[in-house]
Amino acid sequence: MSATAEALSTKLKSIIRDVPDFPKPGIIFKDITPLLADHAAFTELVQAFADAYRGAGITKVLGIEARGFLLAAPIAMALGAGIVPVRKKGKLPYKTVAASYALEYGTDTLEMHADAVKPGEKVLVVDDVLATGGTAAAVCELVEKLGGRVAGVAMLIELEFLNGRSKLAGRDIHSLIKY
Ligand code: AMP
Repeated sequence: MSATAEALSTKLKSIIRDVPDFPKPGIIFKDITPLLADHAAFTELVQAFADAYRGAGITKVLGIEARGFLLAAPIAMALGAGIVPVRKKGKLPYKTVAASYALEYGTDTLEMHADAVKPGEKVLVVDDVLATGGTAAAVCELVEKLGGRVAGVAMLIELEFLNGRSKLAGRDIHSLIKY
């Protein structure tokens, strides 16, 4: 990691709030709301992602419900790309494609509008936290179902001990903060 990236990571870590035992015992929830409320720090993180992907030919930025929306929108604006919301099953009004992934108990399903990504389009997938990688892997599957190309997976925070990268083998993953 470069000295600039290291300094940004340290700064962002100092602003993100750890909330123990949310939403259930044993989970340390990474609360990014203090970061969203900090104009200077939020601007810096958006710029860092835009710098990482500028020139990559990305035309759509996918935000994963719900905190991913808040990151995807300004990153898309900075890259001159469109924004696509990926939502939990049943929330989108038009024709959708769906992908399911395993949770600790049961499965969850994510959907995207069927016309949101065109064949051959280069897409950036964005979310706040990469944990086990199941969510991001399902979103990459959605992009590829529509013939899109996943140009990158951008995660603000990566929980390395959960080894989410193993579910995203061969993908270009960029995280600003690692725990
Ligand atoms: P996963 O599919 O396990 O990689 O989980 C990723 C999704 O769960 C993301 O949409 C995150 O927002 C959320 N998530 C998982 N773990 C945490 C955590 N410790 N703090 C905040 N969000 C989390």
